[in-house]
This record gives sequence, C-alpha cells and structure tokens, in this order.
Amino acid sequence: MPARILDGRALAAELRLGLAERSTVLRARGIIPTLAVVMVGDDAESASYLRRIKRVATDAGVEIVEHLLPADVGESAVRLRLATLGGDPTTHGVLLQQPLPRSLSIRAIADAVPARKDVDGANPANQGRLAFGTGAAFVPATPAAVLLLLERSDKWPLRGREAAVVGRSSVVGLPVTLLLIGHDATVTVLHRSTVELAAHLERAEVVVVAAGKPGLVTGAMLRPGATVIDVGTTLVDGKTVGDVEFASAQEVAAEITPVPGGVGPVTNIALMQNVLTAAERQSASSHAI
Ligand code: NAD
Repeated sequence: MPARILDGRALAAELRLGLAERSTVLRARGIIPTLAVVMVGDDAESASYLRRIKRVATDAGVEIVEHLLPADVGESAVRLRLATLGGDPTTHGVLLQQPLPRSLSIRAIADAVPARKDVDGANPANQGRLAFGTGAAFVPATPAAVLLLLERSDKWPLRGREAAVVGRSSVVGLPVTLLLIGHDATVTVLHRSTVELAAHLERAEVVVVAAGKPGLVTGAMLRPGATVIDVGTTLVDGKTVGDVEFASAQEVAAEITPVPGGVGPVTNIALMQNVLTAAERQSASSHAI
C-alpha cells in the first residue's frame, strides 16, 4: 500500500486559525505583531521566499517590514541595523535572510541578531541553548516544522525510536537532530562524508532528509514502514523537487511528506508562531515594568 501523505498544506491551514486568533488578541491591545526581514543584496530565491511569507503573514495578522541593504554593505552596517531593530519596541521578530552575499559571513554576524527577537533561531546563543537542553528562546522555523509534522505521524511519541537525519547544517540538520534527541529518539546523523547512507537508513523508523541533493534517498534504502520527512527543495527545470525519490519511497514508507506541499508551508507557519510568541513575551515584559 502506498505511503500516507503527511500533508503540509493541510496542517498549515489548520495551524493558521490559531495564529489569527493570537494576533487578534494582540491587536485588540494595540500591539501589531511585526517581523523585520533584513535582506542583503538581491537574491532571487530570497525574494521569492519573502513573497511567500508575506502571504502567510497577512493571513496571520503579522506585519512584515523589509530592510533591504545593498550587496556591497559592510559587516558593521548589517550589525548596526540588527542592533537598531533590537532596540525598536515596534519590532518583535528579526529575521536575517540567507544566503548573504559572499563578502559577508553569517558566522561573523549571527550573534548580532537580537536574541529575544531571534525568531529563526540564528543567534549562536539560541542554538547553544537548544543544544544544552535549556530551551532556546525560539526553535528555528524549519526544524520546528519537522517536529510539527512528526507529531501528526504514527511514530509519535518518538521515545526509543530509531531516527536518521541526513544533513548536519546549523539551520536544519543539527537543530533537527537536537530536537529528536530531546524527544528521546536514538539519532544517527548522516552527512556528505558518510560512506554508505543505506547501511544506516535501513534501521531508521524516522528519516529526515535535508541535504539539497535531489533523489539522494530512494525507496530501496528505507526500512519498510518508515516515516520520511523530506526537507530538501531544489529547483530542477523550473520545478521544486525534494531529496527523496518520491515514487520509490512511497512504495516502502508508511508516511511521507511531498515536495512541494510538505515541510515548506508548515515552516512558514512556524515562523509566524515565533513572531507572535515574541510579541506576546515582549508585551508581557513591558507591562511588568
Ligand atoms: P546545507 O547545504 O547547508 O547542508 C546540506 C547538508 O547535507 C550538509 O550537512 C551536508 O553534509 C549534507 N549532504 C550533502 N550531500 C550529501 C550526501 N550526498 N549524503 C549525505 N549528506 C549530504 O543545506 P541546508 O541549508 O541544510 O538545506 C538543506 C535542504 O533543505 C536544501 O535543499 C534547502 O533548500 C532545503 N531547505 C528547505 C526548507 C523548507 O522550509 N522546506 C528550509 C531550509 C532549507
């Protein structure tokens, strides 16, 4: 029997209702939940991402303010803009859009993203808290979306489950790994130097793939009955494709996310959830003063 589809669009539509309710409560108190998106240079993929999150933000009652900086801007100017947004009481969330131009290094800038407004968990302090298990201020949106989808899977709860994560980037693979460990799964992390993916994947009941390599994981590599979350998005001949060979994987897995329509729509919702949480926390602390 082909795998059940873990439908990200349907989940996003369900979660969207809760977002609108939260922003209505905030707005009734005169607080307009606002996300500042800092973009450096004009990356086409980033511009299209911004258009997508603007649509979600409108439905969620979240305001997006774009801060477009020229591609040749220096590191100190980006840090200054982030610090200014940190001190601005009308800005609740700050997203530093990646990729940055080659002249800038995310490693040199990420710590300037104001920690309590760091709605995509980019600041190393928040990443460290996630690793330390002390609770990050915000879980980055894509890893949060992976968890939201797994909560709806037949592998939930994850305690004692064999899980494999393909990819170890600081934005997806690593935080997903930490979240899975936090839910008591036994996690194997695979990456570009892993010699034989299949030897590890054949044990995994839960497989999360975030490599950016179309077709990397095939049905033949999977354990029958696995739940497969495909984070990958790559443009091939104008179409967005994932990292999992969907047709063969669907014959072996019990559950699978499609691309598009899987992790992506839930990621956008997770980002808005974080912006609303930020606005709620900041308004609560300003009342306390
Ligand atoms: P990245 O390039 O920073 O990291 C890729 C990771 O995959 C690395 O850790 C690398 O070691 C591993 N990898 C590469 N080739 C491999 C191979 N042959 N075998 C095993 N591991 C391999 O990418 P990223 O930022 O983590 O993004 C990964 C993918 O997820 C991309 O396709 C990206 O577009 C997508 N993405 C989707 C969303 C979403 O919301 N759907 C969000 C962020 C990223």
